Order: sequence, then C-alpha cells, then structure tokens
Amino acid sequence: MPHLLSYWEKQSFLQGFDVAVVGGGLVGLTAAIFTKRQQPQARVLVLERDVLPNGASTKNAGFACFGSVSELMEQEKRGGTAALLSVVRYRWEGLRLLRELLGDAAISYEPLGGFELFRDEEAALAAACRAQLDYYNQLLAPIIGEPEIFRVADQRRAEFGFAGVHSILENVAEGALDTGRMMHALLRLAWQEGVVVLHGVPVEALESGPASVKLRTPLAELEAGRVLLATNAFSRQFFPDLDVTPGRGQVLVTAPVPGLHLPGTFHYDRGYYYFRPLPGQRLLLGGGRHLDFAAEATTEPGLTPLVQQHLEELLREVILPGRDVVIEHRWSGVMGFGQELEPFIGELAPGIYGALRCNGMGVAMGARSGLRAAELLS
Ligand SMILES: Cc1cc2nc3c(=O)[nH]c(=O)nc-3n(C[C@H](O)[C@H](O)[C@H](O)COP(=O)(O)OP(=O)(O)OC[C@H]3O[C@@H](n4cnc5c(N)ncnc54)[C@H](O)[C@@H]3O)c2cc1C
Repeated sequence: MPHLLSYWEKQSFLQGFDVAVVGGGLVGLTAAIFTKRQQPQARVLVLERDVLPNGASTKNAGFACFGSVSELMEQEKRGGTAALLSVVRYRWEGLRLLRELLGDAAISYEPLGGFELFRDEEAALAAACRAQLDYYNQLLAPIIGEPEIFRVADQRRAEFGFAGVHSILENVAEGALDTGRMMHALLRLAWQEGVVVLHGVPVEALESGPASVKLRTPLAELEAGRVLLATNAFSRQFFPDLDVTPGRGQVLVTAPVPGLHLPGTFHYDRGYYYFRPLPGQRLLLGGGRHLDFAAEATTEPGLTPLVQQHLEELLREVILPGRDVVIEHRWSGVMGFGQELEPFIGELAPGIYGALRCNGMGVAMGARSGLRAAELLS
C-alpha cells in the first residue's frame, strides 16, 4: 500500500537529518547514541530493515568475553602479538563502554567467570594451552587488570558433571549478560537521547551527492548529511568488494533441566561451541559453524541437520550426560567476519562510512565500534 505521508510524519521522522545510520543492531544504535552525545544539535536517524534487528545483535549468546586461551593462540598465530593485544583491548574497552552506557542491572551483567573444556581426544591442545597460561596472563594483565586471568580448573570436573572432559581452564574475568535486555535498554536510551529509530525500513540504495547522501527506501526517499553503514554481514549489498563474509551461528535452548549447575560461560573446541545457563534452569548451546564453513557462509537464516545434530550430541553426551533433555528454542543469527582481527571503521564513499565486522564478538566490541564511528562522523 502506498504511503500517504503526513506533514507531521515528514517533519518529525523523515527529514532534516545530519546523520543516518543504516542497521539497528548493537553497532548502529551505539554509534547513533554516541553521535548524539558528541553533537547534541545533530539530528540522528537509525533505519532498521526489520521489525526486530535481523542480524546478530538480538540472536547472540550474550557472552561478555575477550577470548579463551585456544582462541587467543589461534588469533596470535593469524595476526601476530601486536594485533592480538590490540583486539583484546578493543573487546575489553567495548565491554566496559557497554556496561557504563547501560548499567549492569539493566543488562543483567554477571561476572560469572568462563571455562574452556578439552575432551580426552584434545589432550595435546589442552597441554599446549596450559603451557601458555603464564604467557597470556602476563601479556593481558595490563589490559584486563588481573594478574591471573587464566588458571587450571580441573578440580571442577566432578562439580560440573561433564562426560569425557580431560581438562578445564578458567578465565576469571569473563561474564555474561542478557542479550534481549541489552537491546531493549539500547533502544530505550537511543530514543531518550533524541535519536529517531525506525524499524521495518530497508535501505535499498545509497547515492552520494556533493553535500548529502540520498537513501532509497520503500517508505520514501530520504536524505542525510552523512550515512553510517552498520549493516555488518549484510554490507556487501551496498559495497560488493568489502572484506566482510557472513557466518551463520545456530543456537538452541533447552527446557528447564532440574538441578542444572553450570555457573559460568563455557567454550569448547577453540570457541566454535559455547554454552551457558539461562534463567529457569535452561541451558543455551550454540556453535558448530566450523562443521561446514561454506554452508554457514550465508546471510540466510536457517537451521541445518548437521549442526543441530552435533549440538544435540554434545549436549546429551558431554554436557548433560544421562539426562533427558528437551529442546525448547532453536534459532540462527548472522555474524560478519573478515581477514583482519579488528572491525572495519572507515569511509567507503563520499559521505558514506562503515562500522562493521565484529568477527563474531560484537557483544564485546560493538560499543567500541559505535564510539569510533561517532568520532569519525564528527
Ligand atoms: C548465534 C550468535 C552468537 C553470538 N554470540 C556472541 C557472544 O556470546 N558474544 C559476543 O561478543 N558476540 C557474539 N555474537 C556476535 C555479535 O552478536 C555480533 O558481533 C554483533 O551483534 C554485531 O552487531 P552489528 O550491529 O554490527 O550487526 P547486526 O546485529 O547484524 O546488525 C546489522 C543490522 O543491519 C540490518 N540491515 C541489514 N541490511 C539493511 C538494510 N538494507 N537496511 C536497513 N537495515 C539493514 C540488519 O537487519 C541488522 O539488524 C554472536 C552472534 C551470533 C549470530
């Protein structure tokens, strides 16, 4: 149905914007809020294509993490020590910013501590990680502010009740938050600070002009002084050569498991699997993208028998052995990955900027990306 837009709608919701942010996820909303704080007179608009953000920000696991030992080892091998330090600082500062912005109570942040598991067949990887504990403790202590971030926690095997787990490492500085409450609080704050957030408005095309950028949408053609793309995995629709590849993540949540006792966030298989308790004695378990990278390199939502079957096997054979577990929820979300460890924040075309590619750790990095994008826009 065509829109017969009123004078009021145009005046208050669709005109006169200095900055338009495309994408209403964690990065887009924090960028809009920080832009408004840095330029109080600026009119800032966020356009989200779906009724709820439809990427990663409302679909994730809510780990407030900065890397397990095996992930750090892998990332250091890939990017070198300086790049690793820089990305860990980015994650840690991002978490601090997010917590300061919204408050721990509003996002149900809990400093639970994190654990990395190694099964019997991963004894060699476990030994390699254990050999690096002192090294990573010393390397990261100045960033995290803890002298002993990682430590051996094998003594907790019996308490957790896993089957076939050979070794456990603990990360005392990791936490968890409630993803839904985080996004709710961000949206509330955005409106409170004077940002206009419109849902259900996909941006179909962008056109840079000498003084402004035009945004084509089904609602109307809009215009803004500058545009920030915070479209993460979906950014190639505008710039096909961008180094951002989609990576779908599949998640399940169990029905209540009486007596569930897994206090913490848990990582397994170099971070490719992750699980944590949720209120009501439920367990969230996700991951398995590495089982078929090619199939999961998609922006399409979906569940596959391969990944779901592996998640259920892990659940029933290792995490909750011998328990009769019912699965209540299943979903997928899409992350954005690239060659470099750090996100992309920069100019893409005259008047068009990008803040994207949190490499699957945007709960941690997102607010930092939002702040950097706001600095760029000002
Ligand atoms: C299953 C899963 C588990 C995860 N777990 C964790 C975790 O535990 N800890 C952690 O740190 N990170 C985690 N992440 C990663 C984290 O959620 C992301 O890195 C972060 O949410 C990225 O935020 P974003 O704003 O850049 O992108 P997104 O949240 O993807 O936002 C991009 C938005 O752009 C919108 N959009 C796209 N095209 C258009 C258009 N044309 N017009 C308008 N809007 C458009 C999309 O609908 C989307 O809402 C996980 C991700 C997934 C999928």
